Amino acid sequence: MKARDGMYIGGRWCPARGTDTIVVVNPATEQVIGEVPAGTAEDVDDAVRAARAAFPGWAATRPAERSVRIAALRDALAEHKDELAATMTAEMGAPIGFARNVQAGVPIRVAASFAELAATYAFEERTGNSRVFLEPVGVVGAITPWNYPLHMMVAKVAPALAAGCTVVLKPAENTPLTAQLFARCVEEAALPDGVFNLVTGLGPVAGEALATHQDVDLVSFTGSTAVGKRIGAVAGGAVKRVALELGGKSANVILPGADLAAAVKVGVASVMNNSGQTCYAWTRMLVHTDQYDEAVELAGKAAARYVPGDPTDRENRLGPVVSAKQQARVRGYINTGIEEGARVVVGGAETSQPTGYYVEPTVFADVTPGMTIAQEEIFGPVISILRYQDEEDALRIANGTVYGLGGAVWSRDESEAVAFARRMDTGQVDINGGAFNPLAPFGGYKQSGVGRELGTHGLSEYLQTKSLQL
Ligand code: NAP
Ligand code: MG
Repeated sequence: MKARDGMYIGGRWCPARGTDTIVVVNPATEQVIGEVPAGTAEDVDDAVRAARAAFPGWAATRPAERSVRIAALRDALAEHKDELAATMTAEMGAPIGFARNVQAGVPIRVAASFAELAATYAFEERTGNSRVFLEPVGVVGAITPWNYPLHMMVAKVAPALAAGCTVVLKPAENTPLTAQLFARCVEEAALPDGVFNLVTGLGPVAGEALATHQDVDLVSFTGSTAVGKRIGAVAGGAVKRVALELGGKSANVILPGADLAAAVKVGVASVMNNSGQTCYAWTRMLVHTDQYDEAVELAGKAAARYVPGDPTDRENRLGPVVSAKQQARVRGYINTGIEEGARVVVGGAETSQPTGYYVEPTVFADVTPGMTIAQEEIFGPVISILRYQDEEDALRIANGTVYGLGGAVWSRDESEAVAFARRMDTGQVDINGGAFNPLAPFGGYKQSGVGRELGTHGLSEYLQTKSLQL
């Protein structure tokens, strides 16, 4: 396929209207590995038109038929799992084991969950003399980031399809090859033409055109809080639906008496996995003052075992960050942490790798709640360890940022942990390392976002209600 011919609109691969392209760079080798079209407002308009034309037909299909198509999409993703994982490793640097198990594995589970939900969800309810219908919102504009490229696409496209919506996807400029592969999987699932459309392009051009398009009924965005605020404002002005999944600064609260070694080990892994490029990563570890020194020592040792290196090597658990821009940004935060008086336990802003956008796994101790590294999303392999005096102090620190996406509580007593978690201003909390659940609603309190993804809550984002009184 020629670079220009990489759009998928109205059920066929087609060239972009313009000639601009986006060059894709492997962050481990710094080599160019591909080129895709940089779509413009005209391409977005073509795609929205195709999605609009397909909407009445798709909305009218029986949920059982939509379920069959989403199950076919799941099967296509499973069939291409190795290629999807290798493409994500090449595009954004996730270590190959993590790319297979999480980056490719989780979206397959999520697609399966929406195939099941499409078949079983109650799209009609009754109350008194009324029949209440849950109807698809319409044309969805999905704008996704590069950190979990496939998961973010599936977590928007699968529920939209289950609801009976049609979709135009604008993926991140750093990971368009994964998006093209995803579009091939959709093609193999044999959806009607125009139900799913892909426009690759730059955020301020194609993304902006999609978010502001008058014929898009719902914008579902995942990415930075800065862009999310703008998209929310534009959607509000046009009275259209919006779902926003934004940043996080999640607290890992280790209560006295918890299994400290386990809490620290899992907490460090939460930040080092995917090079810290996880919106819900537990980037603030909160430890009681009596256990503080022990926790810092354990965390330093755990982090030092994440030796940065070639992500295609199965032995390596820490790859590069996605781009030179992100590497500079993360190193900037590390330097700010040092300037503001935090203590580097391991790591730092220097990197040992001559090639590739690597950042050393970095642990900061003596971090106080007001410091920049305790407040802002760094999106790199950097963890801040804060000290608390008692439970109220821990809660105040945990809730003391503009974000509220994820979090963790560790305690010997599960009911104590649950009680603490109920007081945290955050959308999800993992108790004593509770496992990821693809049906659990995912989304943020406060500036971490609006709306929920996954499971029935995720599906309902793509539905609107109509009541008939009989
Ligand atoms: P971003 O710019 O917000 O990117 C997210 C998506 O929005 C991308 O597809 C992007 O396109 C698009 N976009 C950018 N500007 C837009 C606009 N004006 N209108 C519509 N769409 C637009 O995030 P980023 O620059 O990749 O990363 C910056 C920071 O955001 C990170 O350091 C991290 O803190 C945070 N982030 C959070 C998440 C999360 O899961 N919550 C994910 C990624 C990043 P382009 O790819 O062309 O920019
Ligand atoms: Mg950007």
